[in-house]
Parts: sequence; C-alpha cells; structure tokens
Amino acid sequence: MSQRGIQCAVPVADSTERIVLAHGEGGRLLRRFLRERIAPRFAPDAPWRFDDAATLSDLRGPLAFATDSFVVSPLFFPGGDIGRLAVHGTVNDLAVRGAIPRYLSLAMILEEGLPLATLDAILDSVAAAARECAVRIVAGDTKVVPRGAADGVFLNTAGVGELVDPVPPGPIALRPGDQILVSGPVGRHGIAILAAREHLAFDPPPTSDCASLLPAVNAIRHLAPSALRDATRGGVAAVLHEWAEESGLGITLEEARVPVSAEVRGACELLGIDPLHIANEGTMVVAMPAERAQAARDALHQLALCQQAEILGEVRSSRGVNAVTIRRGLGREQPLDDPQGAPLPRIC
Ligand code: MG
Repeated sequence: MSQRGIQCAVPVADSTERIVLAHGEGGRLLRRFLRERIAPRFAPDAPWRFDDAATLSDLRGPLAFATDSFVVSPLFFPGGDIGRLAVHGTVNDLAVRGAIPRYLSLAMILEEGLPLATLDAILDSVAAAARECAVRIVAGDTKVVPRGAADGVFLNTAGVGELVDPVPPGPIALRPGDQILVSGPVGRHGIAILAAREHLAFDPPPTSDCASLLPAVNAIRHLAPSALRDATRGGVAAVLHEWAEESGLGITLEEARVPVSAEVRGACELLGIDPLHIANEGTMVVAMPAERAQAARDALHQLALCQQAEILGEVRSSRGVNAVTIRRGLGREQPLDDPQGAPLPRIC
C-alpha cells in the first residue's frame, strides 16, 4: 500500500542510513528493505515471497488470537527494548489465556529519519525473542510517516496460539478461599521505564521483567488454575480489581507477602507509589483453588524467573464497599486503590 494516492516516477535517494518516506511506498526501496532486512531475519530457510497473506496449515484448533500495539519510550531500556516487548506482550496474552503461541505478525510504523541501525537492532531483538518463544513471524507490514508524526518506531503484533487443556476458565470461576499468587517480584517494568526515561540514577538500576510467561504457565497448567492474567498496565492491582468485578467476590492481600525487589521498593518509596500499581511485562497473577496453591508455588519456584513466586492473598465471599483490600504491616485492612489510568504513559 502506498502512502500517497499517486505513484510518481521521481527518483528517490537510496538512503542506506535512515528511513525515508519511500521505504513505505511499495516501490523498489520497500522491496529491497524487505529482502535485506526482513526476510533474512524472519524467513531464513524459506524462499521469500511477496504475498498478500500467510497460510497456516499446521494449526490445531480451538485457537486463541490476540493483538497489541507498542509505543514505549525510550525504545531501549534496561532489560529490554520495544522489539522484545512486542513479541513477549502478545506471546504472554496468548500464554495466560491457556494457549501455546505459534505465529505472530509484525506491523511497523516508522518515523522518517529513523536511523537504520536503530531499526536493525530492534529487528534483531524481535527475531531473538521469537526464537526464544518458538513462535514464527509470518506476516507483516511497513508504513513510514513524516518526521514528527510518530516517535521513531511504533510496533503492532498479532498472534495465534493453540489452546491446550485444561483451558483456564477465567475470573468467573473464582471461588471463596481461592488463593492469589504472583509469579515474581512486582513493578519491575514500569520502574525500569520511568528510571530510563527520566534519567533517574538508582543504584543498582532497575531492570524490566520483560520475558515470556509460557514456561510459568506450562509449569502450573496441570494444576488447573482458575484464572491467569499478565499484570501489565495498572499492575497487579488492576488485575485484582477486574477479577473482583467479574466474579462479584472480594479479594484480600497481605502486603508483607508481596515480592518486591530492593530497587523497585526504593524507587517506589522515593516516588510515593505502590509497586502493586506498576506495570509488569513478564509477571502474572494466578488464582488457584486453595488445595493446589502450594503445589503451584512450588512448581513456579523450579523456574529461574519465578524463584520469588508467592501466595499473597485470597478470594473472599463477602464484599464490602472495597472489593480489594490489603493488610499493611500489623495494621487494619485498607482498600487497595483501583488505578484510574496508568500512572506512567507509554510504558509498553
Ligand atoms: Mg494481558
């Protein structure tokens, strides 16, 4: 598809340094871009074809399908970058729905003037993350917008995965007494982005938890969790408020059990924010019937990324004015705020 309605024959400088509008205009430069930058990374073994759609012939249904867009700023941050985030974001949405992710699409909106070296680094990262997650990128799109109409790179990924039994029924299946777990320390992604964007000097610097949740889901799948959710924007608090709303039940937490890394705790104290409200990109919340909750915690502890998985609360039948509460220290239960919006814009 062309950016302008009319294809004109004006020669375009064949820039090898930066993205120019012609990279998105469907002509020679786009074909070369796809042949040199996309095909070797995403289809190294298959003959490259300029086709309108990928055909997927080896999927077994029922399938799960998800999409997500990525506008994170800065593009590179401790623990990840927009490319890695774009793969893990969609892979994680499929994984927590109970699917094995198989195929992704990758759509790029590029700003005129973007250094090609920056784009190459992002594409390398997309390819590495896709290999890590055993997903294949089989479809894509490239658009270029004039300088100032985007901020370097925006990405969108869509993904297809095969659902595996037992598929988690979701928050509607929550029962009083169910235990609430998190798979790792909370708030790492949002704090890493904030520190990188605002050049805040924390020692040690906080790193994003950006990673695939598929190994964690696989580790507890056989224990039939009631609900799983990756705790992205709005953090763990937003997930629990959604679950309380959908189930009509209450949820209560013990603050002392919430795993928080030293650097996130320090940053949150300094900034006056609750780590439970901060976004994660490789950490999930799990609701598990009480009799299998300890087994789920033990299974997660077998994984390197889930060594701090913890049971931090439970579902209650009674629900007062506050659907989600937390006991802080030795004090009384307090309401856990429902975030109105993300405290930080453009974190994913
Ligand atoms: Mg999600």
